[in-house]
Amino acid sequence: MKNQTSLHYATADLNHSLTNKTKNLLNQQLTNWDLAKRNYTALKTVESKTVDVLGFPMDVQFNPSRIISSAAKIDPKSIQQRPCFLCKKNRPAEQNGILVDDRYWVLVNPFPIFPKHLTIPFVEHIDQRIAGHFEDMLKLAQILPEFVLFYNGPQCGASAPDHLHFQAGSKGFIPLEIHWNAWRHFAERIIEYPDFSLLRHITYPHALLVMESSDRQTLITWFENIYRQLENPDNGVEPMMNLLCSWENGQWIVWLFPRRLHRPVCYFADGAQQLLISPASVDLAGVFITPREEDFQKVTASDLATIMDEVSIPCDSLDKICHTLRNL
Ligand SMILES: [Zn+2]
Repeated sequence: MKNQTSLHYATADLNHSLTNKTKNLLNQQLTNWDLAKRNYTALKTVESKTVDVLGFPMDVQFNPSRIISSAAKIDPKSIQQRPCFLCKKNRPAEQNGILVDDRYWVLVNPFPIFPKHLTIPFVEHIDQRIAGHFEDMLKLAQILPEFVLFYNGPQCGASAPDHLHFQAGSKGFIPLEIHWNAWRHFAERIIEYPDFSLLRHITYPHALLVMESSDRQTLITWFENIYRQLENPDNGVEPMMNLLCSWENGQWIVWLFPRRLHRPVCYFADGAQQLLISPASVDLAGVFITPREEDFQKVTASDLATIMDEVSIPCDSLDKICHTLRNL
């Protein structure tokens, strides 16, 4: 299955074409693929609640099908021993896709959080790394304008850390994207010049840097600047981060969460103290997933604030990074 959609020439016509193809793919998969049909039907009736986390309304979603991701083992041995579910040869026979520019497959995610949830793996089995692929994320956001793109680092929630992929979820679902126009007023301007802003949110419960621009090259340059300032873990994989990206009114908004921990303390606690919450992009942007009902019932706004604080880089580290960025 091949089409001419190019990542390099995202025109209105191509956007329209990929949007239609994606719509058709979702309809087709929700009709013909039992697993997807079952999980999207179940999603319509999942329980959710909204809580106030330090002044930010955030949702908690009780979603049992996500246990596969929340409890995913990502140690090298477990990863090596399982067939990679993002490689074409291992995908279920019912899973169809749209090939974009011979580089990425647009697939329906059979374990949805969003009403429309896509997984977008690279065509080859290469490690999950953002270096060298941030531009792809921008382009995908531009040619999928009805979606928010997101990237979970290999140590920050990706359940396939060995296969490069992005995900996309329907706009109008995550609080950070819905409320950004209002919430951006509580952000400090770190860098600002015509057609580029780098903001740092002051009160958000997790360290948060945000770039806004219509210029792709400028965004890539500044992403690389930020990347170089973030601490790289001892294993040198890549700085721990989650990224979200949206194309809106002719410009990109990129939200970057710099992290220090994969999973919070409560994930490893025993008995009643345990909360099986393994935060990634969507959680940090305001939709926390609880695959177990007991966690959904008991989790509080204060727990969520603690989780975000634990996995985030500390405030003084972000102070130093912003100071360096200002002086570049
Ligand atoms: Zn693979």
